[in-house]
Amino acid sequence: METIRTKCLIIGSGPAGYTAAIYTSRANLSPVMYVGHQPGGQLTTTTEIENFPGYHNGITGSEMMDDLHKQATRFGADVRNGIITEVDFSKRPFTAKADDGIEIVADTVIISTGATARYLGLSDEDKYKGLGVSACATCDGFFYRGKKVAVVGGGDTACEEALYLSNIAAKVYMIVRKDFLRASKVMQRRVFEKENIEVLFNTVTSGLFGEDGLEGATLTEFMGTDKEKTYSLPVDGFFLAIGHTPNTDLFKGQIALDEAGYIITEAHTSLTNVPGVFAAGDVADPRYRQAITAAGSGCKAALDAERYLTELG
Ligand SMILES: Cc1cc2nc3c(=O)[nH]c(=O)nc-3n(C[C@H](O)[C@H](O)[C@H](O)COP(=O)(O)OP(=O)(O)OC[C@H]3O[C@@H](n4cnc5c(N)ncnc54)[C@H](O)[C@@H]3O)c2cc1C
Repeated sequence: METIRTKCLIIGSGPAGYTAAIYTSRANLSPVMYVGHQPGGQLTTTTEIENFPGYHNGITGSEMMDDLHKQATRFGADVRNGIITEVDFSKRPFTAKADDGIEIVADTVIISTGATARYLGLSDEDKYKGLGVSACATCDGFFYRGKKVAVVGGGDTACEEALYLSNIAAKVYMIVRKDFLRASKVMQRRVFEKENIEVLFNTVTSGLFGEDGLEGATLTEFMGTDKEKTYSLPVDGFFLAIGHTPNTDLFKGQIALDEAGYIITEAHTSLTNVPGVFAAGDVADPRYRQAITAAGSGCKAALDAERYLTELG
């Protein structure tokens, strides 16, 4: 097995990983980055990004990640195709194995493996991704100004997404499987007080339809024993708000995770419970989940890694 030595291993190539690569390479840490199964991260699955500062005309996700790649490699970041399959944080230097057969020995590790939005698993969801189906109201809500949208879910996040969209869209339907909202009382009150939000209880989505893009959802309402009604709800946007899964399986037992699997970091920093291992982006952020916040935390992780190495001497 070939072994490479680096001052900093970066796992993941979204905005967090690439920002960390730009900063660590400019700080002379000669970072090695593994891009994973989704080079460029989540943004490569979307078309237009309009809210990343600096791109005043908007930019496609793939173009933006391409720019970040060029910027990181310009300063010497060693960006490698491959997936990290194993890590050992129990002793220093840390070690990791990649699926290209290489072992990486690293003084610091920056984890930026992101989080994956949960979808319902409908066969049509993929077909309409970017054409009406979204898992991020903050990202895509603006495209539905004055239109009708649906939000799936009954927890705090779903209520937040519905409230956000209610300020943009003409009408927001919340599709809730149970006969109650799981959200906190205060969120429920805000939702019920909004005139343009209608909660459809006891309702599940069985399909999506539309010719050139999403035109609506097929819903089934359960109305008591053996009684159900299936109908079409015309909507332009269909937002999933049923949670995210942080990509942290690899780190279980190696690093402290919260109940949902997110990496726990020390307040306002990227520090994990293992000195020398840092976390950045959605993998440690159940709250904001934006490209700009991921990039910002990638910068923090790089600065934290650099400081850690300086203090080690
Ligand atoms: C459809 C869609 C549209 C969006 N639109 C916007 C928008 O308009 N504006 C906005 O600000 N945000 C948007 N977001 C959110 C934004 O994409 C995320 O907040 C951001 O990408 C998070 O960046 P990250 O670096 O933390 O992780 P990610 O972008 O999730 O990248 C994770 C990286 O980790 C890698 N990885 C995972 N496991 C391994 C492993 N074992 N080994 C090596 N690498 C690994 C993956 O390959 C990937 O490269 C959107 C998200 C989606 C899904």
